[in-house]
Amino acid sequence: MLLRKKLIAGNWKMNKTSADAVSLVKEIVAAVGKVHDVEVVVCPPFTCLESVARMLEGSALKLGAQNMHPEPGGAYTGEVSAAMLRALFASYVILGHSERRTYFKETDAFINQKVLAALKSQLKPILCVGETLQERESGATLKVVQTQVEQDLDGVGKDLATNVVIAYEPVWAIGTGRVATTEQAQEVHAFIRSLLTKLFGETLAQKVRILYGGSMKPANAPELLAQKDIDGGLIGGASLESRSFLELINAAAAVR
Ligand code: PEP
Repeated sequence: MLLRKKLIAGNWKMNKTSADAVSLVKEIVAAVGKVHDVEVVVCPPFTCLESVARMLEGSALKLGAQNMHPEPGGAYTGEVSAAMLRALFASYVILGHSERRTYFKETDAFINQKVLAALKSQLKPILCVGETLQERESGATLKVVQTQVEQDLDGVGKDLATNVVIAYEPVWAIGTGRVATTEQAQEVHAFIRSLLTKLFGETLAQKVRILYGGSMKPANAPELLAQKDIDGGLIGGASLESRSFLELINAAAAVR
């Protein structure tokens, strides 16, 4: 038996109205009924969570959000809390995405608060880490990823470690069509697993899923997903259309 069930998560970003979301998710649910070896998560915008949650009832698909605020409630205009997401049956939440780090100036300290708040509310964080092109070219990739992983997971107890999913997303590969080579990706994934071993011990680290994200497409997925430490994908562009998303799910299911 595989130690880690493959996970394919779609990050729809700021795309789809509620009506568009319902028709996309209907197509995915109809096809995913036949796939059992892969965990599938869709992460629509907040405005579609409720309508998508209804479509997912009775299916194996899981719902995720794209962000949340660490506080349980209060005067935080425009924000939503972990409890609000749980009330809509979300099980996952993407945290620390590079677009939030860049455009909304999210720091590792703030992302860490969100990770802890999500876990406290039984939401599984999909924590995104990754280097910029400049950082890769200057040889700083592993250092950058180490700082993000260590700071973002600060204070996470061993009891909740396996609820965390890490997504390695090289910033230069997101939405650019430029994918990391399998060697580049596997190197960083193995490094992240070694950091998890230091934090949580070998047994737990072997159970944590580490996804690759950054221009993953049906054409490049089989090779990436076959790598020892790549346990699935966080998919942006290719998750907005059922055909490509389903091909990615099938590619994950085909890995033995
Ligand atoms: C992402 O934004 O998480 C992502 C991986 O996007 P894309 O697949 O479009 O590169």
